[in-house]
Amino acid sequence: MSHFLDNVLHLPEYQVLNAVEKEDGLHFHIDPPAPIACEECGTVGESVRFGKRDVAYRDLPVHGKRVTLWLMRRRYSCRACDKTFRPSLPEMVDDHRMTRRLYRYVEKEAFNHPYAYVADTTGLDEKTVREIFRKKAELLAAWHRFETPRYLGIDELYLNRRYRCILTNLEERTLLDLLPGRQQDAVIRRLTEIKDGHKVEVVSMDMWKPYRNAVQMVLPHARIVVDKFHVVRMANDALEKIRKGLRNELTAGQRRTLKGDRKILLKRAHDISDHERLIMETWTGAFPQLLSAYDHKERFYHIWDCINRRDAERALARWIDEIPPGQKEVWKDLVKAVSNWHEEMMTYFETDIPITNAFTESINRLAKDKNRDGRGYSFEVMRARMLYTTKHKKISQKTKESPFMGRAITTYSRSLPDVEKNFGVDLSTFWED
Ligand SMILES: [Zn+2]
Repeated sequence: MSHFLDNVLHLPEYQVLNAVEKEDGLHFHIDPPAPIACEECGTVGESVRFGKRDVAYRDLPVHGKRVTLWLMRRRYSCRACDKTFRPSLPEMVDDHRMTRRLYRYVEKEAFNHPYAYVADTTGLDEKTVREIFRKKAELLAAWHRFETPRYLGIDELYLNRRYRCILTNLEERTLLDLLPGRQQDAVIRRLTEIKDGHKVEVVSMDMWKPYRNAVQMVLPHARIVVDKFHVVRMANDALEKIRKGLRNELTAGQRRTLKGDRKILLKRAHDISDHERLIMETWTGAFPQLLSAYDHKERFYHIWDCINRRDAERALARWIDEIPPGQKEVWKDLVKAVSNWHEEMMTYFETDIPITNAFTESINRLAKDKNRDGRGYSFEVMRARMLYTTKHKKISQKTKESPFMGRAITTYSRSLPDVEKNFGVDLSTFWED
């Protein structure tokens, strides 16, 4: 009987004394190995038993049943140094009163299931599961140190019923981090953690003041560019207002048709097919207001085609001057936005390369892909899944080659691996176009 039990647990250093099945799972009574030497002074053979009690340790579930190990925890007293000690236990994580194999199992499971589920299957409480997950995530964070980007993107992502702040490397098209919210304090704290913050030259963002305040405070040397797509989207919103305003003048049938045709109106003029152009001209021909709003939307997009700041300044001023009569109210929000973010909008025309957050869509796809069954997961789990279970974009620094002597040989670095730069989560597999 005893031999059979010993093999059952696969913990060879422990003696299994007894086993019993109860309603709450399987219980084993086990005896840890006796210490060889005193853990205080190291003297061998002078330790004597000094009292004992049973302490419950959790172990891996077996056949879907929770497992509790009742470990006979002994105290010893040393005749050499007079101190008492409790020997450390092989294969156990003493802080959490569980086996190492259970600890590793929880680390893995917490990435793939809600905390409550992992807690339920193992018999641990949720707090313990969360704690183990947190430690693992911290370890992964320390392991994956992302390079500081030259062009930093700050954007938002709607995830698990809230807007989250996301940080990206615009040049490498990678994801660097997600924050639980978009509050200024949190953004400031995160930006402060960026190593070598002076390396950030440009920050692209949507028109969200807390982001701007945070960057001005923490990265004062960096230039801020407002993200083009967030601005031009507002021109579409204005056009939508005109379209909806027409509803009272239409029959029910026309109303439905116009609603179906809204996508054509929101398209750029150069993306419209001949067939779509006919449909659109039917509407704009019947409603001059719609035509002038459509043209004004297109003119706003064209501002972004300017090749320098001076032209863009002029085009914008003209665009504001020439708002179609009777549409002041409709374009009001956009006019206000471009005046509040004037400098940041104009900086777009002064950077070496066009800077936009255009690839944010691929982050949406990554979020969906990683959190398909998102309910029940905490933000930390979703974040860790997105950051640490996806391929990272890495570039190894090859040894420089001398044009005179061939490959440089530096004996001290020979045994070291090539220095590797990690630019963050590679989003290229999540692009569609
Ligand atoms: Zn001792």
